[in-house]
Amino acid sequence: MATEKVYYCEKCGRTMSGDNFYTSNNLEKYPDDGKLPQCKKCITMHVDNWRPETYLWILQEVDVPYIPEQWNKLLQTYAKKGNKISGMTILGRYLSKMKLGQWNKYRWEDTEHLQDVANKKIEETMMRQGYSRSEIDEVINKASVPIPEEPLVEPDHKPQLEDAFNQFFIPTAQDVPTEDYFAR
Ligand SMILES: [Zn+2]
Repeated sequence: MATEKVYYCEKCGRTMSGDNFYTSNNLEKYPDDGKLPQCKKCITMHVDNWRPETYLWILQEVDVPYIPEQWNKLLQTYAKKGNKISGMTILGRYLSKMKLGQWNKYRWEDTEHLQDVANKKIEETMMRQGYSRSEIDEVINKASVPIPEEPLVEPDHKPQLEDAFNQFFIPTAQDVPTEDYFAR
């Protein structure tokens, strides 16, 4: 009988099976099979699903692109009022999504390019619908999440609860309504 390979979490010090660890595409940094050195529970400890700065560093470690539109779609689906979600809820589903054919050719370094493509889509949609330059710029500004130049590191605490509810609005090309978007 083959023994299952076990992994050690450097944070909680426990030994667990591989499915308790996220797998990185960056095999140079994480040789053998790409397993990250912290278990899923530990690595998502400080994740706030509404604050990219708390999870972008994990996407970088796993080496997948950050596509705000896809993240926010998952948020809309799974973070409905009353639903209990943890730091793993969205991240786990997002990483699964990034393994699908449409996305699996992209890595962290493609983040900026993909964001440009998404913004272009918003721009084209809104232009077709007759929005002004400044209205388009405003929406694109809100839709863009700047990626810091410096290497990303894990935040040392979870943001305050009240901040967590300070959700920002990120429109996507799909969300730009066909009618009077800026009325009211
Ligand atoms: Zn752990």
